[in-house]
Amino acid sequence: MSEGPCLEVRGVCAGYGAIQVLWDVDLVVPEGSAVVLLGPNGAGKSTLLRCIMGLVPLWRGQVSYQGQRITGWAPDKRVAASISYVSEVGVFAGLSVEDNLRACGTGLSSREMKAALARTWEAFPVLAQRRRSAAGSLSGGQRKLLGLAKGLFRRPRLLILDEPSAGLAPVVVNEMVATLAAVRGTEEVTLLLAEQNARALDLADRVAVLHGGRKGFDGSVEEFRAEADITAEFFGLPSAEVEGAS
Ligand code: ATP
Repeated sequence: MSEGPCLEVRGVCAGYGAIQVLWDVDLVVPEGSAVVLLGPNGAGKSTLLRCIMGLVPLWRGQVSYQGQRITGWAPDKRVAASISYVSEVGVFAGLSVEDNLRACGTGLSSREMKAALARTWEAFPVLAQRRRSAAGSLSGGQRKLLGLAKGLFRRPRLLILDEPSAGLAPVVVNEMVATLAAVRGTEEVTLLLAEQNARALDLADRVAVLHGGRKGFDGSVEEFRAEADITAEFFGLPSAEVEGAS
């Protein structure tokens, strides 16, 4: 394994057509850590994750993974290098739970596929029960779990999740956070997740805040929690308002 961070993003600018969305964004994800990318709607979180995956081209800047520049790599080469990405949607609604998983195992031998399925059923018993059901018939929380299970199917070194808690009821968000914490305890995986929900901080080591396509705070969860004006930045409020409210 290489020394240094698992993932390093330097000076990334990107956008769609003529519209710039990301402005000079830096981000470091240390090996073995969990980093939460926090930011409100439209801050550019998904765009940054897509840039890291090679799904949106960079206008400027570099992405390095395990010490190697991967900026020009096609998405499938990144997947082959053990980077896994789960989009906000994450599942094929018309396929069964099992077929969703099998679709992630393309190229695995039948023995590896069997082992990966067995691992998944053990880690996600609720999915085992629904293995033959269409993914579209699952509850929102179960669908998000299936997305997570798909992301983990090939035992990635780096797992990138786009808003795993989006659209979930608060109690289900808690379950998702607990599941992700359990994943951290059992798998040797580095996590990068985009979130709007501050509950995700409970499983993270580090936080980076994205606001209007620019990076703001970047530091430990403890530092983030300790600074009221940072909370203000995240919620887009003047800091006095947050201090006054507390
Ligand atoms: P959300 O939580 O709403 O997904 P986000 O922080 O992930 O927010 P992005 O989805 O990256 O933000 O969107 C950043 C900006 O880019 C927004 O203004 C959005 O409208 C715009 N955008 C996103 N995807 C596209 C696209 N495919 N084409 C054009 N503009 C886009």
